[in-house]
Amino acid sequence: MEKTLAYWQDKAATLSIEGRAFIDGEYRHAASGRTFDCLSPIDGKLLAKVADGAAEDVNAAVAAARRAFDSRVWSGLNPRQRKAILLRWAGLMREHLDELSLLETLDAGKPIGDTTSVDVPGAAYCVEWFAEAIDKIGGEVAPADHHLVGLVTREPIGVVAAVVPWNFPILMASWKFGPALAAGNSVVLKPSEKSPLTAIRIAQLAREAGIPAGVFNVVPGAGEPGKLLALHPDVDCLAFTGSTNVGKLIMQYAGQSNLKRVWLELGGKSPNIVMPDCADLDRAANAAAGAIFYNMGEMCTAGSRLLVHRDIKDVFVDKLIAAARSYTPGNPLDPKTSMGAIVDQVQLERVLSYIEAGRAESKLLLGGGRVKQESGGYYIEPTIFDTAPNAKIAREEIFGPVLSVITFDTVEEAIRIANDSEYGLAAAVWTANLTTAHEMARSLRAGTVWVNCYDEGGDMNFPFGGYKQSGNGRDKSLHALEKYTELKSTLVRLR
Ligand code: NAD
Repeated sequence: MEKTLAYWQDKAATLSIEGRAFIDGEYRHAASGRTFDCLSPIDGKLLAKVADGAAEDVNAAVAAARRAFDSRVWSGLNPRQRKAILLRWAGLMREHLDELSLLETLDAGKPIGDTTSVDVPGAAYCVEWFAEAIDKIGGEVAPADHHLVGLVTREPIGVVAAVVPWNFPILMASWKFGPALAAGNSVVLKPSEKSPLTAIRIAQLAREAGIPAGVFNVVPGAGEPGKLLALHPDVDCLAFTGSTNVGKLIMQYAGQSNLKRVWLELGGKSPNIVMPDCADLDRAANAAAGAIFYNMGEMCTAGSRLLVHRDIKDVFVDKLIAAARSYTPGNPLDPKTSMGAIVDQVQLERVLSYIEAGRAESKLLLGGGRVKQESGGYYIEPTIFDTAPNAKIAREEIFGPVLSVITFDTVEEAIRIANDSEYGLAAAVWTANLTTAHEMARSLRAGTVWVNCYDEGGDMNFPFGGYKQSGNGRDKSLHALEKYTELKSTLVRLR
């Protein structure tokens, strides 16, 4: 059956939405009884009243996670038993693909075509990937003096708190809980208050799959539960994805409490550099538009600074504008929509204020306005400015569909502008020259560099994370397991 706008609207009308926290294997109201309103950015209407977690809820979740960890009910399973349960959980996410995708679209305003093809299957795949890995990797027998046997092993770290953002709610969460659970930890997940619904729903699926009570907990709420988790003396590790400002606070909270391990995936202002010898300007222009307008620009890796060589600038900008026009904001429930709603009113106003700043200091090439206001939702059209590299809009992370086009004349200048940022999450170079490609890739201070593409390689095999104030540690790949394990040396004297 073709899934049309009417199909998704009908389904939305009868969807039952859970808004309670999930602690120690069951749904619970916040101990205070307080809730917050979870609104849909599609039309500004109420979706659910969600538990507003506070100290009592965080303490209960951490205590449940600790009990589960200490009892070894999860960490003590054979790796292949954990694998089987995690695979069942991922299978249930796939079985509930429509429901989870719909929740994600209603909650975060993401196009349904994306949530059904990227967000939900991507989260299931992440869980599968780490489940499949965990019974295949072992430790080391280290060279040691003859009278010793020396083992180097990895052990789960204990209670892992995951605090995540709203732009890819289930996917970003899975990048934390996938490896953390596979390694044998207990997890307390704090979803963003702007998009808590899929996290809450998959907790029930975790129980159905056989993940024991207390091993996976979800405490929704605004900043408060995140802060309480970061300050908690019984949380061993805090894995965070979000803004650089909050990331800085989280490090301080860890320092004020128990020096828990802190892993930060933070913001970005990624440069996308088009050299004059780029072999396919049409492809590069399409990719440049996708790099900033996919997911309404709410992407940590957004190619928000487009650096174009002066010789090709005029031609390239024409192609870019044509490509950008294919991202017309539409109803996220319509499978034909490529650009959905901005997550909420606060973010809408933030993006619009950057557009105002852009109008004051740069030349507007496309867009620049709020649209579809009659829907009651929050929509902004693709917006492009021709700007200087030091303009506010070219330096600060906007997290919306606003692109800064910057002109350069030499490779050295491009590298200098690209690296002149507090961030270092990703970068891209378009060139037909192999030497230029490699030399520029080496010079760019970023955790991921794409050459002649953007945002590709979305599988699990590549570590993902940033240099500089884009964070520390890496999500995805086997390296992610390093974040959720302690290294132990065991030395056995034989005689
Ligand atoms: P945010 O920092 O405002 O919030 C992230 C999470 O932290 C939310 O769950 C929030 O409730 C919680 N939080 C807020 N204040 C807190 C506090 N004082 N202590 C503890 N937790 C607190 O970020 P956001 O607006 O949700 O997400 C957008 C940001 O996330 C952007 O900067 C974006 O670049 C970044 N991001 C990074 C990556 C990456 O992998 N590097 C991926 C996605 C998003």
